[in-house]
Amino acid sequence: MSERKLHFDTLQVHAGQVPDPTTGARAVPIYQTTSFVFKNFEQARLISSVEEFGFDYSRITNPTCEVLENRIAALEGGSGALALASGSAATAYSILNITHTGDEIVAAKTLYGGSFNLFVNTLPKHGVKTRLVDPSDPENFRKAINEKTRAIFIETIGNPDINIIDFEKVARIAQENGIPLIVDNTFGTPYLFRPFDYGANIIVHSATKYIGGHGTSIGGLIVDGGNFDWSKSGKFPDFTTPDPAYSGFVHWDRWGNYPGAGNIAYIIKVRLHYLRDFGACMSPFNAFLFLQGLETLSFRLERQVASAQRIAAYLAAHPEVEWVNYPGLKTSPYHALAKKYLPKGPGAILAFGVKGGLARAKKFIESLKIFSFLANVGDSKSLVVHPATVTHGQLTEAEQRLAGVKPEQIRFSVGTENIDDLLWDIGQAFEKSSGKDA
Ligand SMILES: *Cc1c(COP(=O)(O)O)cnc(C)c1O
Repeated sequence: MSERKLHFDTLQVHAGQVPDPTTGARAVPIYQTTSFVFKNFEQARLISSVEEFGFDYSRITNPTCEVLENRIAALEGGSGALALASGSAATAYSILNITHTGDEIVAAKTLYGGSFNLFVNTLPKHGVKTRLVDPSDPENFRKAINEKTRAIFIETIGNPDINIIDFEKVARIAQENGIPLIVDNTFGTPYLFRPFDYGANIIVHSATKYIGGHGTSIGGLIVDGGNFDWSKSGKFPDFTTPDPAYSGFVHWDRWGNYPGAGNIAYIIKVRLHYLRDFGACMSPFNAFLFLQGLETLSFRLERQVASAQRIAAYLAAHPEVEWVNYPGLKTSPYHALAKKYLPKGPGAILAFGVKGGLARAKKFIESLKIFSFLANVGDSKSLVVHPATVTHGQLTEAEQRLAGVKPEQIRFSVGTENIDDLLWDIGQAFEKSSGKDA
């Protein structure tokens, strides 16, 4: 089908797969096997030394996972992808792949709680420091960059502030400094936002959320934009010097311009070093479930974004609501950026503050009947969480303030249920928690 540039909703069903050559199976088969029989001695040698791509052991490559990798690469417009056991593994590997002890990264301070911990508490123990900046002014990224900086890391839609960053400006700053821009596109999904179109170089996903879409499986993905020259600045010697782990070949020479694929150096290297050595591989069964999820990604998001907009407007007009964070509202400071970068809608996650602080938030959440109180987003079921207790509960008060977490804050992840039922649920929870009949 190379003669036609296919649309997103065709790619989400077909990309990366041909019907199984052995059986003709139309669905992607679950190759639940640890290992693959070599045809002969020569093939074993070629695959093991990566002189040829092929399957040998499912920690490194698996045909079911490979379809998912190729599909997400097609949807994001990247040169290649890597499936991992979780979004957290994807985030950690995305940084480890390009840093050594003494290096730094610059990240937006408005991050997923787990990423915040990784950058602020865990990576520094291994010698990689993060400078957190207020992302509302892109120039803050430039100010935090020095000769040790190896990447800028941001999220498409910040959590829990539901903020949007001026991607093009931040991408330009990364480019001017010879470092890649890494974007966590979990809340955006390739349907709402394609970071590579705006100059990002690497994308990470928690597939656990919208890609899976049904709250069944934990998984993560890294996507390579194929648009960063790792040989240019001298900052990434792992790409340009002989690799003792692979008989001394040079990654950039081998994968910098690979026939038929282009620049796949980053994504091959992260597989050969960090997936091979740290081992957080995705199971074929989970890859299968993520593929099922992807087939309906655009349809779910259309509905979820429309419902989120309705709920945000309802909350904004409610007398017992202090504030609402949703970039789809005209009053949001991120409305203009949302219009520019996310014209199909700024996601289906919103945050608001109830009057009455923590005590009211607690009563309100416990009164909801359709919304489930749990620590997840992106499910087809509507979800609610109290960030200060759950997603950012491990952070100190000062860290919470830095990340924008407030005690009265409630976060909704809007699902695919009927909008009138969702509005009814929110209405009855306000009534129940108002103290009048509590
Ligand atoms: C959930 C999430 C992660 C972590 O993903 P897991 O699959 O839970 O490990 C990273 N970033 C964002 C934005 C997330 O929502």
